[in-house]
Amino acid sequence: MLAGCLPGILPPLELAEALEVAQVRSLLGELPGRSPLDWARPFRAPHHGVSMAGLIGGGGGIALPGEISRAKHGVLFLDELAEFQTPVLQALRQPMESGRVMLTRSGGSVAYPARFTLAAATNPCPCGWAGDALRRCRCTPGAIDGYRRRLSGPLLDRIDLQVAVRRVSLENLASDPRGEASVAVWVDQHFGYLMCYTGDTLDDVARRRRSVAIEPMSCPPNAFRSGESLITLEPGQAWASSWGIRPT
Ligand SMILES: [Zn+2]
Repeated sequence: MLAGCLPGILPPLELAEALEVAQVRSLLGELPGRSPLDWARPFRAPHHGVSMAGLIGGGGGIALPGEISRAKHGVLFLDELAEFQTPVLQALRQPMESGRVMLTRSGGSVAYPARFTLAAATNPCPCGWAGDALRRCRCTPGAIDGYRRRLSGPLLDRIDLQVAVRRVSLENLASDPRGEASVAVWVDQHFGYLMCYTGDTLDDVARRRRSVAIEPMSCPPNAFRSGESLITLEPGQAWASSWGIRPT
């Protein structure tokens, strides 16, 4: 559910990024005729049974782009990470490092872009209950060890943020104050000075925006930056500095 909220808070694509996303879709014959440019960042969530060709790219003749290229400038979400075929997971390592993938087939070699933000989730053991306070895990230590070893060290080394998530009780889930809505986070990042409330729809925000005119400028997220180009934000500080804002 958390991963599913990601697309709602990501900044829109820049023109150059939107063109690259459109190029990949065009190769796959998936470019809409009427509005070929889509400003929303891609969110791809292939099933854990996906093949090597489906995830990395492939096919006969000239290889076609896979999910990692479709997720260019966006998010690749791999649910049940340990259930993916080991060779498929290992093949992710090089594109995650270089941001591109080279595919060689009988028809020739081709390089596709593969710069994406990886989000993944996995169970702690085959039955899913290891470490749970209420239900008992029935896996053997060997089964748990083998399950976890499917995720190799070099792959995990490339995942910067890893969080163990425990069960939340029904009482806590029902009593805790509700978090921010995705639209509130998005607006806070891009139009930090605007008031936005949980439950707001984009129409509500649009109505509130009518008192100002906003000229968007490019601002790719930190996932696509490196070194000195990384943006440092304090809690509460918004991306608004990268947007031209003028009162009307
Ligand atoms: Zn278990």
